[in-house]
Amino acid sequence: MRLENKVAVITGAASGMGRAIALLFAQEGAKVVVSDIQQASAQVTVDDILAQGGEAVAIATNVTQEYQVQLLIQTAVEHYGTLDILVNNAGIMDNFVPAADVTDELWEKVFAINTTGTMRTVRQALPIFTEKKSGIIINIASAGGLNGSRAGAAYTASKHAVVGLTKNIGFQYAPLGIRCNAIAPGGVATNISSTISEPNPFGMERAMIGMGLNPKNGQPEDIAKVALFLASEDASFVNGTVIVADAGWTAY
Ligand code: NAD
Repeated sequence: MRLENKVAVITGAASGMGRAIALLFAQEGAKVVVSDIQQASAQVTVDDILAQGGEAVAIATNVTQEYQVQLLIQTAVEHYGTLDILVNNAGIMDNFVPAADVTDELWEKVFAINTTGTMRTVRQALPIFTEKKSGIIINIASAGGLNGSRAGAAYTASKHAVVGLTKNIGFQYAPLGIRCNAIAPGGVATNISSTISEPNPFGMERAMIGMGLNPKNGQPEDIAKVALFLASEDASFVNGTVIVADAGWTAY
């Protein structure tokens, strides 16, 4: 029970890695606020947590909407009395569109969810963390946030920005007892490909060269175990950094 009585908010927890993180955190004793734009599927995650004897509540949150994010953080406090851990996991892909073809609309949509959504939840959680002089933030970045060969321009830039934001928060808030780290997953078997509707042929061809070096895909549970480490006391000296979990993909 490495997270006994801790209160965790997880965005994008209806599916994939967010769902796996929610289930594992609950098994480890955390009270989990399961948040996603897909409310019905978020409730399924909660039902599965309750069935395994854990504690959780579902809330519909679109991370691009400030008032919904405010409500999300309030829900944690009203339901469970505080907030200890924030996992920014909600994210989408970008159709592998290269810089020459990216529209403002696509760029802004990807940034609004992947990057600004992360900043927005952090901004709402920090007053609680700074007051109690403790708090843990885990941002799900990407291997595509460390190199240029996995996605289109918008996704790649949005995840590089998440890495920069992580380091900045880790540095600035360290004296207040707050740790902020990111995970850079490699290929993981989830539903994220459903956010790729019409792949750009040139961008897709270039990304496939990078993809072709992937030693193997992981499972959402592989990433959940890394998140558990970062959320636990075992990571008390780990701050402002990125843990790559990709079977060695980015090393090639
Ligand atoms: P997924 O599609 O299974 O899960 C993402 C969840 O985010 C979904 O439940 C979706 O409803 C939710 N979401 C989307 N837009 C939202 C919004 N505006 N507000 C709230 N929730 C929203 O995909 P996943 O692979 O589990 O993705 C989780 C994170 O991991 C993402 O940030 C993604 O970029 C990152 N990632 C994925 C991979 C991979 O190979 N799957 C690799 C590296 C990084």
